[in-house]
Amino acid sequence: MGQINNFLSGFFYIEAFIIFILGFYSWRRRKVPGAFQLFLMCISAVIYIFGYSMEIVSVSLQNVNLWSKVQYLGLPFMPSLWVVQAHSLSFRNKKIGRPYRVILFIIPLLICIFRWTNEYHRLMYKTISLVNNGYFDVLYFEGGILYYVYCIFFFSCAIISIVIYYHAFLESTGYMRKQFRIMFYASMIPFASLIFDQLEIVPLGMDCGAFGIIFIYILFAYAIYRYDMMHIIPLSREKIFEWIYDGAIVVDLNYNLKDFNHAAKQIFQSLDKSLIGTEVELCTNECPEFFELLKDLNSKHKLYSTQNLEKSLTEDVFEFSINTLKENIKYFKARLRPLYDKDLRIGSTILITDITKEKEMLIELERIAQLDGLTGILNRRYFIELANDELDRLLKQCGNGVMFMFDIDYFKRINDTYGHQAGDYVLKEIASIVKSIIRANDLLGRYGGEEFIAFLPDLSLNQAMIIVERIRAAFENHTFNYKDKFIKVTASFGVSEYYKHEHESYCSFDEMVMHADSGLYEAKKSGRNKIFLQ
Ligand code: GH3
Ligand code: MG
Ligand code: MG
Repeated sequence: MGQINNFLSGFFYIEAFIIFILGFYSWRRRKVPGAFQLFLMCISAVIYIFGYSMEIVSVSLQNVNLWSKVQYLGLPFMPSLWVVQAHSLSFRNKKIGRPYRVILFIIPLLICIFRWTNEYHRLMYKTISLVNNGYFDVLYFEGGILYYVYCIFFFSCAIISIVIYYHAFLESTGYMRKQFRIMFYASMIPFASLIFDQLEIVPLGMDCGAFGIIFIYILFAYAIYRYDMMHIIPLSREKIFEWIYDGAIVVDLNYNLKDFNHAAKQIFQSLDKSLIGTEVELCTNECPEFFELLKDLNSKHKLYSTQNLEKSLTEDVFEFSINTLKENIKYFKARLRPLYDKDLRIGSTILITDITKEKEMLIELERIAQLDGLTGILNRRYFIELANDELDRLLKQCGNGVMFMFDIDYFKRINDTYGHQAGDYVLKEIASIVKSIIRANDLLGRYGGEEFIAFLPDLSLNQAMIIVERIRAAFENHTFNYKDKFIKVTASFGVSEYYKHEHESYCSFDEMVMHADSGLYEAKKSGRNKIFLQ
């Protein structure tokens, strides 16, 4: 008959020993957040379980009652410690407010005192007796008012820690998320065991908590060892993940979002913790192109076999841009790394670097390389490039166009009379007058010092001549006002046409320039401020 309680008692000794080892481990790592609380939790659990194992092997009411009291040196502090533990792990740098700390320790302390002095007031247990459960005697009691206060306290603490862990689970990502999930499950156990106790469905009239507690500590231990929970590595990795300037997004093989960091959220505003598990396309809708490029690149990686792992570990890069309403276009470079668990491909990590500054510099450099520094119109080299493209297009379409060149008349005099800066001003003004007359898709370039060139595609000669005449007249009628000096300027024009006579072929770009140049020469020769067609 006495065998079962000896066996159970032995089980509880082992349980207490395991928790003691855990407590010892936590004490050694007490500097780590949460470890000291775990140490205290272990101490209170060891006292409780040890007291309980002694209680079930005791035979007299006096001894059973004594060991029950011993349990109360640990038991009521456990729920408080769960809350403190949950709080310190979830809000790493924040301490629980002083009044709450006081409440969390005064209540268990009072319960402990009232339990030890129960004989004098009977507020914890109204009556205590021994009842045989068929195998051995267990303590039977009728709860007093303070016993129910204690139950409510226990319940509340259990619920608070569940809520804190659940909240932390939702708010965290990566490592921490896994850890909080385990802690969340662990925090459900005391709650469940309390319910079992209240429903009195535990055999032999035993305390369910004493059995349940080992599972909490196994889960805590699992969290500690499996995820190195209270160690600095996951925390630092987590922080580095959050702190890096590059956006990081982790997806699985089905492009479901698994994780992302703060910088990624800055790039794709729609990224949200609540979207973890859904397709990444939904979270990157600022740039649909991103998802397409990602898929293209990823499918390339899928082709690599696991034997070819080395090859598949190389990075792949693509660029994309996001046009936000508030800011200008932002440019990004995404680097994709396939993720492997041993040989098995499980997903991808995408690191996204903001390359807007570099890109803008490149665009600016290109612009500088294409435009004339003084007038802002095309420089000679870029004009030739674009004009040749246009000629190719017109050749294919059998279209026509007109080229004209002009040179400012007696420009040297302007420099000599008003100074070089005035000359510069006139050149800028000349360019803007021409720009205001020609169409946006016409090409205008600075061919030499004060010599300009333009190409008007898709125009007949007659239409173009009207425009050129308008320009000539505009110069003639304009008075350039530089620092209260009034300057009059004219220019001479040479015009050539790009067209195909019957049985003739189109002329080349160089031929057109040659014709326009000789027209210009003729215009100069015949008195300037003239237009000559060649
Ligand atoms: P013409 O009617 O025969 O063209 O007489 P011109 O004086 O204009 O003669 P030319 O075309 O030979 O003179 C070009 C002058 O333009 C020489 C140079 O000092 C001036 N020039 C060239 N580039 C610039 C410039 O960027 N700024 C200024 N201010 N002057 C320039
Ligand atoms: Mg000249
Ligand atoms: Mg000139």
